[in-house]
Amino acid sequence: MIKIKTRKEIALLRESALLVSKTLGMLANEIKPGVTTLYLDKLAEEFIRDHGGVPGFKGLYGFPNTLCMSPNDQVVHGIPTNKPLQDGDIISVDCGVLMNGFYGDHAYTFEVGEVEEEVKKLLRVTKESLYKGIEQFRSGKRVSDIGHSIQKYTEAYGYGVVRELVGHGLGRKMHEDPQVPNYGRPGRGKKFKDGMVLAIEPMINMGTHRIVQLKDGWTILTADRKPSAHFEHDVALIDGKPELLSTFQYIYDALGIETDEEALFHRVYS
Ligand code: MG
Ligand code: MG
Repeated sequence: MIKIKTRKEIALLRESALLVSKTLGMLANEIKPGVTTLYLDKLAEEFIRDHGGVPGFKGLYGFPNTLCMSPNDQVVHGIPTNKPLQDGDIISVDCGVLMNGFYGDHAYTFEVGEVEEEVKKLLRVTKESLYKGIEQFRSGKRVSDIGHSIQKYTEAYGYGVVRELVGHGLGRKMHEDPQVPNYGRPGRGKKFKDGMVLAIEPMINMGTHRIVQLKDGWTILTADRKPSAHFEHDVALIDGKPELLSTFQYIYDALGIETDEEALFHRVYS
């Protein structure tokens, strides 16, 4: 059952989402060659607790850490390790927070040092596909319109859309109904209504869409070992239109990236 949120509940969800956004912005300053994902995980946990939240993933379904850290061919659910990041890596960072009874959950794939052009393109297209999906989250549309839009956009580049892992409703639970696949035929599933809150999160592979899981029971990686990207936003449906609760602006500010998210907001609102 899809839980409809009140304005007050959405305001609380926004606070949790923004704490995740700020955590990712803090990490953006720290991600560089030589740094371990376990060190970044510790920084994130401290930051979240210092700001009145608790890590949302730690202990959830038994996950051991604050961040899912998935480098290169890892898609999602990577466990932080003592292996230093290297120049040319990419690292998908997924972060959850629980605060005031509500979860925030969003993700960004970072470049480490100097990354190959074709990998940069994978990141750009995956991020753009996130906004293609968000544009579909409006009154009159249905759940599968999001995935259809993401799939159409990314497959045009020859990329693979992960099937087994999906976006989701977000609220007092990390994973609420509905499930939001990143592929599929349009016009199917529940109709969108004001007060719905979704975590929309394309996971896009440079090669095959197929994935495998490591023996650790968590780490998902691409079957062909080519790179994978993951971008996620928390979005509420308000007055028939999508409104971002999370933002990448803290990351852009930290990295000195000119692409300000305001322009993307306007695209979402238009
Ligand atoms: Mg997430
Ligand atoms: Mg999620």
